[in-house]
Amino acid sequence: MISLCMDQMDYENDIRALLMAFFYGEKILLSAPEWSHRLTVSYAPGCVRMVFEDREGNRREGEAPCSLQDYKLARNQVKRLTYGLLSAYTNVTLPWGTLTGIRPTKLAMEMLEQGKGREEIVAHLTDKYLASEEKAGLCVDVADNERRVLAGLDYDHSYSLYVGIPFCPSICAYCSFSSYPLKVWQDQVDAYIDALIREIEACAGFFPDRYPVTFYMGGGTPTSLSPCQMDRLLSAIEKHFDLSKAREKTVEAGRPDSITPEKLKVIKDHGVDRISINPQSMNQETLDLIGRRHSTEDVIRAYGQAVAAGFDNINMDLIAGLPGETHVHMERTMEAVTRLNPASVTVHSLALKRAAFLNQNRELFPVAPADEVNRMIRISREGAAKIGARPYYLYRQKNIAGNLENVGYARYGCEGLYNILIMEEKQSILALGTGASSKFVLPSDEGVRIERVENVKSVKDYIERTDEMIRRKSDFFAAHVF
Ligand code: SF4
Repeated sequence: MISLCMDQMDYENDIRALLMAFFYGEKILLSAPEWSHRLTVSYAPGCVRMVFEDREGNRREGEAPCSLQDYKLARNQVKRLTYGLLSAYTNVTLPWGTLTGIRPTKLAMEMLEQGKGREEIVAHLTDKYLASEEKAGLCVDVADNERRVLAGLDYDHSYSLYVGIPFCPSICAYCSFSSYPLKVWQDQVDAYIDALIREIEACAGFFPDRYPVTFYMGGGTPTSLSPCQMDRLLSAIEKHFDLSKAREKTVEAGRPDSITPEKLKVIKDHGVDRISINPQSMNQETLDLIGRRHSTEDVIRAYGQAVAAGFDNINMDLIAGLPGETHVHMERTMEAVTRLNPASVTVHSLALKRAAFLNQNRELFPVAPADEVNRMIRISREGAAKIGARPYYLYRQKNIAGNLENVGYARYGCEGLYNILIMEEKQSILALGTGASSKFVLPSDEGVRIERVENVKSVKDYIERTDEMIRRKSDFFAAHVF
């Protein structure tokens, strides 16, 4: 337990994020009476002072200039001081330095847009934020690819359409989404689709003069639906939304144990051009431990069925840092994945989400230290390069293993546009279904601002309160001009 004691709460989240990064998996509480480590932060006019100590009497302390009037400057000073003390205490440096935000590529993107070159951007990220050259370079590569993929996108006349299916064959131990086990909810699936189609019908006309440039069906596991249910849903979407100008239509076929040739045929017949088959790991003991309830052979079978059905843009999601795994497991996973040769691979670092079973039962799930997870990340990057896939989107999450990152790698022309857009926050997303969060980009004095309209997370509530979900969006559209 780490106790965080602050005399005022400025930059609490930044300090917490760094504590989490250095002490992955430890609980951090404000002014906790029982602690193994304690960080005391006090602000005085023009300066911040910190003391980091443990129960054995080891201490690191320091102070830095800090003018709270200049938010950005002071934030960086506070983070650098925190980083310096924790790094000196642990003898560890973090790959991302003091960068704790979700989108570090944004900095690289801004600098590219100002005409700065790779070397200058890398130097800025390493000097100012203490990021490693490796991560700074990755940022520039990703930003460069993002720019290429987004070039020419007509933001003013397009949006993205998301439809969520909240059911899964079983619930994975690390899952923090609103997902429901199919076996238990089987008899509610048709009612859910009825409700979803009502929302689809009602919301299709909300965006006047705009067309969906991407369509993404996620979840949950959309392929939990039967072929008939999937056909009914996709037909309704096509009937109400004009997808003729969509640059990409994705269905997450995530769990291989939900994939059949019949479902793949339905999806393909509806013009879906990108699917995701997600092994997460190709080590059977890991899949068993995290409750995936499918085999590595299922992944290979499902992949073969997808290729046979005509899909040539298949993504595979992997997780680095799964319980019990080391770099040896990642080597095995990448070997198996490169043999399948997908068009893209998305590598997440394990995130310990509060609601996840794994997080609430940590003693059952030993996780690798940060440097080992970073080694796994490197192996995955080398594996992606072997299939010709380059990094094209990157984001980070709270409580992510080793304070690392999630990276999408894709072969040229197979990048997931929706994935970039959701990170970029330059384009509105109309999101339908349980737990769906619509994100609207509106003009503002500072350029743009984001407003969200959320749907309820419970399937039962969604079915019973579909009209209210529709009303939330119609009220929003009535009150705002796009
Ligand atoms: S397949 Fe994905 S959404 Fe479903 S339980 Fe596992 S992690 Fe959650």
